[in-house]
Amino acid sequence: SVCHLDYYFGRGELCKQVLFDINLDIYSGEIVIMTGPSGSGKTTLLTLIGGLRSAREGNLKVLGQEISGASKRQLMQVRRQIGYIFQAHNLLTFLTAKQNVRMSLELHDEYLKQDMDQLATDTLKSVGLGDRIDYYADSLSGGQKQRVAIARALVSRPKIVLADEPTAALDKKSGRDVVDIMQRLAKEQGCTILLVTHDNRILDIADRIIHMEDGRLVQEVGKQGSI
Ligand code: ATP
Repeated sequence: SVCHLDYYFGRGELCKQVLFDINLDIYSGEIVIMTGPSGSGKTTLLTLIGGLRSAREGNLKVLGQEISGASKRQLMQVRRQIGYIFQAHNLLTFLTAKQNVRMSLELHDEYLKQDMDQLATDTLKSVGLGDRIDYYADSLSGGQKQRVAIARALVSRPKIVLADEPTAALDKKSGRDVVDIMQRLAKEQGCTILLVTHDNRILDIADRIIHMEDGRLVQEVGKQGSI
């Protein structure tokens, strides 16, 4: 839940407001897509919700926890329950697909070593990469890399997945595969997705579409295009 959220970059004379009075509720299990022109503040809002930047003004509650003005430790606790997928998949190219996925489990302390291997393998299979588990990330195609990124985000069964332009670097077919996989896993795991995209071809997976313009949330569009 986002309430009266403003956000500024910089200080003093260079201070620039980039988010203006954002109000938004996202419900558990929803797939929400955020669209809007370049520079409208989508990524900034996503990183605030994800606890990757800290909000100083307004109220921002994620998974029941107030995170504006929260301590580093509180932010970490929320972050652990979120999976992140970015346009540049941010895989470590010198590690294999499995090692990349496993890494995200190593941040949690509740997994046993052998379980981490099994979970990483199973998740890679579920994104259709059963035959690429021990390939170096470097040697995978763009679509395959993005699927590893999805596996990495979802392997720890996060409650929320935040995705920033996950299909931007992909052709039509791989982009479709990636969102279909995301949608299926989200349904299976009951997790909530907030996805930023310019890609009109994937809007159909959304339960709700929201639109940003000049730092403001200007409209909410229902699935059928109604406001
Ligand atoms: P795009 O679709 O191009 O990714 P966006 O809607 O995600 O754009 P943001 O990246 O959130 O937009 O940027 C919103 C505004 O904040 C822009 O005017 C941008 O120039 C500014 N901005 C972003 N990051 C910083 C920063 N680190 N310092 C100062 N200004 C920034």
